[in-house]
Amino acid sequence: MICPNCKAEYIDGITFCNDCNTELIPLNEFIDYDNIEISLSDWKEVYKTSDYIEAEMIKTNLASAGIDAVIFSKEDRMRLNLSYVGSAPIKIFVKQNDLETALEILNDINNSKIEDDTNE
Ligand SMILES: [Zn+2]
Repeated sequence: MICPNCKAEYIDGITFCNDCNTELIPLNEFIDYDNIEISLSDWKEVYKTSDYIEAEMIKTNLASAGIDAVIFSKEDRMRLNLSYVGSAPIKIFVKQNDLETALEILNDINNSKIEDDTNE
């Protein structure tokens, strides 16, 4: 058994973590999301938002420029039975190679947003 919160391992039969009182899960069901992020070290975070529609819009924009983007949401973590830490529920990742282009596209999106605001 393992604690999905602090990753402490326990023998079978124990159901709650001694340290943080989180319910334990079987070791084979545990996915270490922090390590997944690290193992995807050529993926870079380019954007944080709390708006899933905005995230999808940005992903679509990046895709139309030929950039693969991954949306990593709070729900992804909850589905994996992991506690979520951080204020921005949704993050967008692109590959290291695409980082500069992606940031330029995001800049353009932000600039057009500001123009839209001043026109109103
Ligand atoms: Zn724990």
